[in-house]
Parts: sequence; structure tokens; C-alpha cells
Amino acid sequence: MTTATRQGTAFDRVIEALERDGRTVKRNGPGQAQAQCPAHDDNNPSLSITDRDDRALVYCHAGCDTDRVLDALNLDPRDLFDKPKGLGHVSGLLSHAIYNYPDGRIAGRSADKKFRQSGNTKGRSLYFGQTSTGKPLGPESLDGHERVYFVEGEEDVKTVRFRGEAAVCNAQGAGKSHLADLTPLSGKKVIVVADKDEPGRKHAAQVVEHLGGIAATTSVVEALEGKDVTDHVAAGHSLDELRDASGVLGGMHPEADEGGIPDSTGLTDACRYLDVALLLDGGLPEPPTPTVCKRSDGVGLFYLGHYNVVVGDPESGKTLLTDFATVEQLGEGGRVLRLDLDHNGPQSTISRLIDFGANEDALRDSTRFRYVEPEDRNQLAAIVEDAKDWQPTLVVLDSIGELLPLHGAGSNDSDEFTAVHRLVIKPLAAAGACVVGIDHLSKGLDSRKFGPTGTVAKRRVISGSCIRVTVDAAFTPDKGGSAFLAINKDRHGGLRRASPSGDKEPSAGKFVILGGQHFITAPMSDEKNPGEHAPPADVAAITALDPPPASAKEARERLKWRDERARQAFKDWKKGTTR
Ligand SMILES: [Zn+2]
Repeated sequence: MTTATRQGTAFDRVIEALERDGRTVKRNGPGQAQAQCPAHDDNNPSLSITDRDDRALVYCHAGCDTDRVLDALNLDPRDLFDKPKGLGHVSGLLSHAIYNYPDGRIAGRSADKKFRQSGNTKGRSLYFGQTSTGKPLGPESLDGHERVYFVEGEEDVKTVRFRGEAAVCNAQGAGKSHLADLTPLSGKKVIVVADKDEPGRKHAAQVVEHLGGIAATTSVVEALEGKDVTDHVAAGHSLDELRDASGVLGGMHPEADEGGIPDSTGLTDACRYLDVALLLDGGLPEPPTPTVCKRSDGVGLFYLGHYNVVVGDPESGKTLLTDFATVEQLGEGGRVLRLDLDHNGPQSTISRLIDFGANEDALRDSTRFRYVEPEDRNQLAAIVEDAKDWQPTLVVLDSIGELLPLHGAGSNDSDEFTAVHRLVIKPLAAAGACVVGIDHLSKGLDSRKFGPTGTVAKRRVISGSCIRVTVDAAFTPDKGGSAFLAINKDRHGGLRRASPSGDKEPSAGKFVILGGQHFITAPMSDEKNPGEHAPPADVAAITALDPPPASAKEARERLKWRDERARQAFKDWKKGTTR
């Protein structure tokens, strides 16, 4: 990187503008900074700024459009380029990026994403990137690279090369891969990065098809955040964090179609074992951290891009907790979809959100907030399809129990739940949303201990966290209330690491509504899950028994307690005496 020698870079320009605007800016190293976003009310530093050699990449994790961020800083899209006055004209278009192809094609791109072609426009060469002086790279740039990223545009090629990997794209963007000479990809492991829109996915499917018989293997991935690999890198993610997107192409697996087991020479390839050396070369990706529904210490309960669950008895505050998350996301510039399958009704939901301090303009804005009571599976399918483009940051499913009946399925069948998960929940999470499903506890004690009602499948598909909510002080409209939060499941461990250890279901804090305030307290480092421990007074009552009881049954009889209470208190007392 040449940050030190370049003068007046776009990166410096953006940092200066942020500081001038009074935003907190934290430099994470050369060419990488984190700042408060100027386009939304930002308590966290949600804005990532990355120096990509010839331009700055800007990304708001709360979902603000880059144009809005620039607007708030009185900057222009041109200011994201080191040379804001442009590099020159291509077919009359003032271009801030000029891409030189090895066969003489020249593509120009203006700051506001207009494209023009000149030079050898009949050429069939791929774009491989170029040197800092503009000299085009050719097929030899793939030498020594076993894997090659196939992306949608020239900017994305430059982004991937900036991260030290080989990349190509065909000329003129989506839908034109049939015009390109793909033979330089012969024998390569090609990772196709699909842009997260309809043309992007279609393009990726076509590229995979055209690479059949040329590439050694193909796989399809997509950005974890944002629309394309440049957004993904701008958001601070490594290339290894691009996530599998073969599912969004409609289950298209070109490699699986060949049929039969190949002979022994091709067998290891066919097994597709993980290349651990390659993974380590690329650096192990950081596990995801929970960022949605934040406690007072800034740690979230739920994960973006994953399916999370809130489980608890009726009236325990599950829906209120998702209301809290809704208001938080709207406040951070996010987009929220509320799927009211229980038919709680819009009036009660909306008025609660306003009570919780939701911005009314955000609620009125249908690009920010959508509420729906789906009546049948077709309507739900349309909503899921629409969400792929709209890309909500938070989806609340209230409740999971109603999803199966809507699909005409029984509530306890494993296969049926897996199918509904694939149709509804998975695509929503794959679109980048933090999906939070509300699940009511069932009656039987075994399933209460186990967590969400019903099947093993229901729990297995939770790819984020499952939070158990238990009433502390019952919620009333005028006085508020509070609820204990416990970690029933945490797939990535990000929440567990920030919570006390020792309990089977560690405390994740307390959700409190008090005097018009709504917040989640973080647990003390030695806090116990009250659901797993007897109150100190109960333990004291057992300690006071003389002679000491020999069993929980004896304690129950002498103190005339309920079975469960005596068992828990006896257990805790016993633990205390043997320590
Ligand atoms: Zn923002």
C-alpha cells in the first residue's frame, strides 16, 4: 500500500470531513478507520472507511446509503476518488475510473456510476485489473493462483486484487459473460461472487453455466453486508467471509449434475475437502458478533444475517423485547419488517413502538418500516421475495408457531419445519437480515427445559442466538416491568463471551421498562441465572434446619414447599456445604 506517499487522498478527505463534522473517528491502522456515521443518530462508530489505493470505500453498517453519508458531510461522490476532477474522458464521459483491458478495450466509469466503452469494443478479453499506472494485467496475473474470483464489475476486480487475490470480470457487466473468452480460467477453482440483486444472481448462474467444462470447480458466494464484494470489503470483511449463495440460485449445483463417482484420479477433487492450508493463508475470519438489540454495554443479543429466537411464556415480554430491537434499528437507520402472524393487530404494535420512542417519520416511511399480517403462504412467499431486494436489517416473526399452520403443516413435524425454514426464514437471513422469531413455550416440563416448542429441527436451524425470557416484575402498560434474559443457545459464542459463565443458560442481562425508559442491563460478571438457582432466603431456610435434611424430599416435607422449590434450594445448599 502506498498510503504514506500519496498526497491528498480521498481517504484523508473523508476523515477530515468527519472530524470537521464533529464525529468521533478511530483509526484502526493504516488506511482503515471507524467513525460515527453522520447520516444517522449513531451511538456506535457504525461507519467504516477504507483506503483502497486509488479511492476511499465508505460503508455504514446500519445501512445508510453512501450518497446520504456524503451528503451529510457536504461531499460529492467524486470526492471518494483520489482524483476528484477525473482521470480523463472515455467516449465523452468524464471518468473517475478508467479500466484498461489487455485487448485494448477501455471502459470509463463516472463517480455517479455511468459507464462508457471505447477502444477495441469488439474484444472478448476478461478484465484482470491493472497496475497503478494503468497498465492492463493479462491472463498471466492468474499464475500461481489456484482460486480466482469472478465478480460483476471492474471496481470489484480492483477490490479483490487489493486484498491480494486474483479476480476477473467480463466486459459490460451482468448478462454478458457469453461474449467473453473464459479460457484463462481453465483448471481454476472459480468463486463466483453474485451481486445481491436479481440481475446479479441471474448473472452468477450464467457464469457458472458458461464455466462448465472450463473451470476445475465453481462455487457461488455473496457479500455478508452490502450488495457486492466492494461493499463487503468496505464493511471490513475478509474475502473468506463471503458466504455461500448456491441456495439463492434456486438450488443450482452444476457440479452435482455430472453424476457417478469419478475414477480415483478425480476422486479427491470430487470429495471437495476443505483446503485448510488455503484457509490459514487467507487468515481465519473473525466469528460474527451480535449487534442487534443492544444491552447498555453495547453487546447485542441477536446476530445480523442469522436466525435468532426469543422464547418464553405468554406475557413474559418477548414481543416487547422485539419492539425494543425495532426502535433501536430504526434509530440506527436500519429497515424493519414486522410479520404479525399472531394477528396482534397493527394498532397495538405501532402505538407501542411510539411509546418506545420510535421516530414517527421512520414508521411512516415504507422504505424503512413495513408491517404485515400475512393471510396465506402465497402472500408470505411474495413478502420473502420482496425482502431479497429491499434487504431489511431486522425481521420480526411473531410467532414461529403460526408459520407451520400457514403452510398447512402440523406444528411438530421435523421435515415440515425444515421445509418452512428453507422457504421463509433462511432466505430472509440470507438477504442479510437479523431474523428474530418469537416462540411460545409449550406446557410439558421437558420441552420447557429444552427450549422452543416442538421439534429438534426447530432448534437446530437457529443460526444465531436463542434468548429465554422470564418475567421478573410483570409488565403493565402504566408501570412497566422487567424480565430476566438467559442464553439458551448462542451459535457463535459472541454473546456468551460477554456474559457470566458457570450456568447452563447464562444470564444475558435484564430487560427493563421503567418510567418511560426502556433498556437492557448487562449482567454483573458473577451474576447467576435466577432460573437455575434458589433465592438466598430459601437456602438460608434449609441451613437453619436442625438436624440438616438428608434429602430434597425431606426438606420439602419439613418446610412444606413445592417439589421444584425444595429440590433447587436443597441442591444449592448442598453445593454450598461441600465447597
Ligand atoms: Zn449510517
